[in-house]
Amino acid sequence: MYKRVLLKLSGEVLSGEGNKGFAKEKIDYLIGELKSVVEHGIELGIVIGAGNLFRGVELSSLSSKSADQIGMLGTLINSIYLKEALTNSGIKAVAISSSVNSPSFEPHQYNLIERYFSTNHVVIFGGGTTLPFFTTDTAAAIRAIEISADVLIKATKVDGVYDKDPKLYPKATRIGKITFSEAIEKGLKIMDKEAFSLCQRYKKPVIVINFFIPNSLLSAIIGEKTGTLVLP
Ligand code: UDP
Repeated sequence: MYKRVLLKLSGEVLSGEGNKGFAKEKIDYLIGELKSVVEHGIELGIVIGAGNLFRGVELSSLSSKSADQIGMLGTLINSIYLKEALTNSGIKAVAISSSVNSPSFEPHQYNLIERYFSTNHVVIFGGGTTLPFFTTDTAAAIRAIEISADVLIKATKVDGVYDKDPKLYPKATRIGKITFSEAIEKGLKIMDKEAFSLCQRYKKPVIVINFFIPNSLLSAIIGEKTGTLVLP
């Protein structure tokens, strides 16, 4: 069982796939999944995206650097929302970011973050890496390494990594376990290149799960075979 986990969620976990905003039943599901993890005494850090608020295509008339600032602000909005939703359900949570001066966020300080983990808080990291031209996958990889998480779990809508694109090849098979070098050899896309390279360099195991299968998050954390495990 992994003791400390960094979970990367896409913004769409708050709205439902292809939808915008915040949907109560999706949030109830999300909180239920997170609650079962917290109740097992697991230290949980979260990085959440912003796909429920802004999509790349809507911002395509802007320069990348401005579109990315908007995306990062979106992750801050979602971080506040998630913190409130957790707190309202009786789960202690804190939002961390040094990229805005907002009373909803605590500063990104290692001692403070450790104190929150030691007092059973879910720690939500908002604002991505703080830099444009990166993604929340990369932010999740950095946070996982910073907090010495035992594993980075990427929550997606597919149940792991396949040897071929399952939409194009019906006989594609899911890979249960693979190393970073094997994934490169086979040209498999696990996460974006920057995130992948950081996890490989810092030997951070990654698990890709389908978040929409109930209990898949907890199963992955307690070591049951689910999704795809990527090992150094
Ligand atoms: N972003 C950024 N730097 C970062 C993290 C995120 O510029 O370090 C921006 C980027 O535009 C990204 C957006 O914030 O597209 C929201 O993140 P993402 O697309 O990963 O959200 P998701 O699709 O996972 O909901």
